[in-house]
Amino acid sequence: MSKARDLKSFKSLIELFEAFPDQQTAIDHLRALRWKNGAFCPYCGGTRIMHFSDKRTHKCSDCRQRFSIKVGTIFADTKLPLRKWFAAIWLITAHKKGIASTQLATDLSITQKSAWFVLHRRRYAARTKSFARPLAGDVESDETFVGGKAINMSKAKRERLGNPQGPKGKIIVHGFLQRGDDEKVSQVRAVTIPDPGGPTIHASVRANVEPGATLYTDAWRAYRALKADYDHRYVDHRVTYVDGTTHTNSLEGFWSLFKRQYHGTHHWISRKHMDAYLNEMCYRWNRRDMGAGERVNDFLAQVEGRLTYKALIA
Ligand SMILES: [Zn+2]
Repeated sequence: MSKARDLKSFKSLIELFEAFPDQQTAIDHLRALRWKNGAFCPYCGGTRIMHFSDKRTHKCSDCRQRFSIKVGTIFADTKLPLRKWFAAIWLITAHKKGIASTQLATDLSITQKSAWFVLHRRRYAARTKSFARPLAGDVESDETFVGGKAINMSKAKRERLGNPQGPKGKIIVHGFLQRGDDEKVSQVRAVTIPDPGGPTIHASVRANVEPGATLYTDAWRAYRALKADYDHRYVDHRVTYVDGTTHTNSLEGFWSLFKRQYHGTHHWISRKHMDAYLNEMCYRWNRRDMGAGERVNDFLAQVEGRLTYKALIA
């Protein structure tokens, strides 16, 4: 049932709409991606699947459940036609600075509520798959402060050094960048942390960076105790920003993009949604070398996982 010829490629939004003139072609495409290693049941994982002649209903020979290819994915239980989902994924993954739900709603003639839901489901999918493996090799780590009227790193850092709890009312984001080489592009990850103190920083590093990695940071003392498990190298920004390969400049570059996106596209992001938002941003950044069409298919290949509207607003 999943055939390679159902797998479409497209290089523009126009080509995407031409590739999926109707719901069936979109269903065939999703099936070709999701079942590229063979059909399986979303309920029990069984692989003895019967296919109905309507080309969209399947039945498991083991648990006897009927299902569509959307069951078990983020597209389950949504009224939005799949081709609009695909177009939404195109727009979200193509815009370097992200896209606001109001813009997405206008571009796709969907309600703002649908657009908002699409964005959040997409962020949820980004979170569930691509962030499982700890970073390794040469990893830069640094924190920044988000919220209020501006992200001002040097000022925030000054405040932080004087006040271990960080500036009041701001969200603290802890970032990691695994440096790239000729073979692979650098990868980032960013998470919110409740405070920049030692125990929190240690737990965050351990959760995101493989032991044995070379860890590059600034002189913040919270990192110092990690030298037992990491090759820790730091540069004191009061003295210099670069000491040979010891610097956090690549991560600073990511922070500045983050800052531009945050101020350029979104007026404000709540603490509750910040991690999902960061995941989406890292997801896109880590795939920056992919073509736009390639990114859509990459996304569609990992849409496992449901997120209901109820759970989202809870
Ligand atoms: Zn089953």
